[in-house]
Amino acid sequence: MKKTIITSIAAIGLIAAIVTSCTCKQQPFPYTVDKFYDLEILRYQVPGFEQLSLQQKQLIFYLSEAALQGRDILFDQNGRYNLRIRRLCEALYTSEWYNQHRAEADAVLFEKYLKRVWFSNGIHHHYSSDKFLPECSQVWFMQACEESGILSAVSVDIRDTYEELLAVMFDPSVMPKRTTQVSGEDLVAGSAGNYYGEGVTQAEAEKWYAQHKDNSPEPMWIGLNSQLVKNADGEIEERVYKVGGLYGEALQRVNYWLEKALTVAENDQQAQVIRHLIDFNRTGDLKTFNAYCIAWVQDLASQVDFVNGFTETYTDPLGITGTWESLVNFKDMEATKRAQLISSNAQWFEDHSTTDSLYKKEEVKGVSAKVITAAILAGDCYPATPIGINLPNANWIRKEYGSKSVTIDNLMHAYNEAAKGSGFNEEFMIDTYTRELYNQYGAQCGDLHTDLHECVGHGSGKLMPGVSKDALKEHASTIEEARADLFGLYYLADPKLVELGLLPNMEAYKAGYYQQMMNGLMTQLVRILPGDDIEESHMRNRQLIANWVYQHAENKEVELVVLPREGEKKTYLRINDYEGVRRLFGELLREIQRITSEGDYEAAKQMVETYAVKVNAELHEEVLARYAKLNLSPYKGFVNPVYTAVFDVNGNITDVKIDFTEGYIEQHLRYSRDYSLLPDIN
Ligand code: ZN
Repeated sequence: MKKTIITSIAAIGLIAAIVTSCTCKQQPFPYTVDKFYDLEILRYQVPGFEQLSLQQKQLIFYLSEAALQGRDILFDQNGRYNLRIRRLCEALYTSEWYNQHRAEADAVLFEKYLKRVWFSNGIHHHYSSDKFLPECSQVWFMQACEESGILSAVSVDIRDTYEELLAVMFDPSVMPKRTTQVSGEDLVAGSAGNYYGEGVTQAEAEKWYAQHKDNSPEPMWIGLNSQLVKNADGEIEERVYKVGGLYGEALQRVNYWLEKALTVAENDQQAQVIRHLIDFNRTGDLKTFNAYCIAWVQDLASQVDFVNGFTETYTDPLGITGTWESLVNFKDMEATKRAQLISSNAQWFEDHSTTDSLYKKEEVKGVSAKVITAAILAGDCYPATPIGINLPNANWIRKEYGSKSVTIDNLMHAYNEAAKGSGFNEEFMIDTYTRELYNQYGAQCGDLHTDLHECVGHGSGKLMPGVSKDALKEHASTIEEARADLFGLYYLADPKLVELGLLPNMEAYKAGYYQQMMNGLMTQLVRILPGDDIEESHMRNRQLIANWVYQHAENKEVELVVLPREGEKKTYLRINDYEGVRRLFGELLREIQRITSEGDYEAAKQMVETYAVKVNAELHEEVLARYAKLNLSPYKGFVNPVYTAVFDVNGNITDVKIDFTEGYIEQHLRYSRDYSLLPDIN
């Protein structure tokens, strides 16, 4: 649910395995921009931008500006010292003194630290939330601040708290975690995130939320857009994020650009969305936020779409307050057509699947998942970013009005392209034939499998009368994901796809089959620490499928073989009978559908515990060692393209140019210069 975030180690390597080829015939595009620590910075293309109408380009330009205005908000939400530390470091980094000393070892380490602060929107790791320390010495840093003379140039607030800032930067015991999740501790006091003022305890915050909770049938999300602080009398008070309130300076600029966007909205529904958001930023009224979410989820016609505001709640230790983020995007028409073609054949797929006719839907509707192209990323979507978005988060709105689920194709594409040449496939795929099949059809199979999973897989089948949706309890999501995946896998090898023109021949699907089996049995294990079980439900589902098929391959349809390579013995997956593997996928689909339709909890439990949870320790160790040698950066992020408006003599925009040449450091320095809207202390 919510965001699908590619962040963990192997996700990237795995993508390399999912898709290694693309059909794009453009000039070579420099996807990789920079690499430092555990991070790799990429660039993404924005295919289709040139084909948009001038009005749509204007809309994207205005919404992009609105997106970039919120950058400082996230820095401050991530920790009350972040803006001061960033600005102090930037002052040093851009000083004449630094320029003369930049070759020194400590200066180089300092630059790496600043790059990391930009990446994390603060001083804690974007994913683990642990504080990272500068590797340059504190003595060097202090001397640099003195000698460069920047201490007299920075703001009074920075100068007055300089000693404090040094401690926050260099002392590992000060604010070690952005978000702590250790139960038994005071989560609020133990977290450096700035959702609660100094001295507020978890108990006090929880009590306040409980007292103010909206229990109406259409509840407001109390606390989504505010900080809780203690006033002079020791009482808890809410500081609301709004124009004239907390973060007002930035929100006012967001609104300035939203007003402009309003003038070029694609239709009335979209104009309504923008109007509600402007109102919400102005008033902070959560009823207006609900109206905004409802209008947004109902805007299906617009090609350009956007998210802008306080959205995901992962960083607040109590999971209430939203971090600021923005993503501007437009519909990828080609890919959306493909999804619609699958969707419109939903009944055929339902009727021809291997499931018992008892459990089939008489009337099935396909879902049209949307594929989008990102135009700009900001706030909590930048530089690290989700590859999919599923909003809004309020359950009652999802139930009554639905939700939008999108995958972001151009970002996936950038990951895949950058992963080429990482050596992943060379290491783990058994032979040249398989790798070449992969290079040719891997991307297509990956896209199609996702479409089948989303557009027809989840929607297929029905529950028997009286069976509750929650019958499978803690195993429900693993079984449900397996069901949708198997539906997709079974049909990937069906002549129907060739007939529909979705695959070129009956050989192509093998690329998808090999990937699924290799990933489920071997390569996804790189995300698991030695000795751990598999816990995440998508990972469980993948192992469940691959392991079940492997264990049931009585005629060696698929096997694991140990081969000598480069003087070592290495394990590889070998598929001897692809049609046989399809038959096994079909058999398992039939059983998983039965379990779901009957709500057979015992069988679900048995299935998950037997095939999905335990890891083959020996193989795990081998896979980890082979993966480690590839030296891949576990986390990726992006630089944005730069949009420039072209004006005529009357001040009207006549075109919007897009440029991809800006580097990582340049981009952050420019953002800090042009979009630095908040005071040092908020
Ligand atoms: Zn799913």
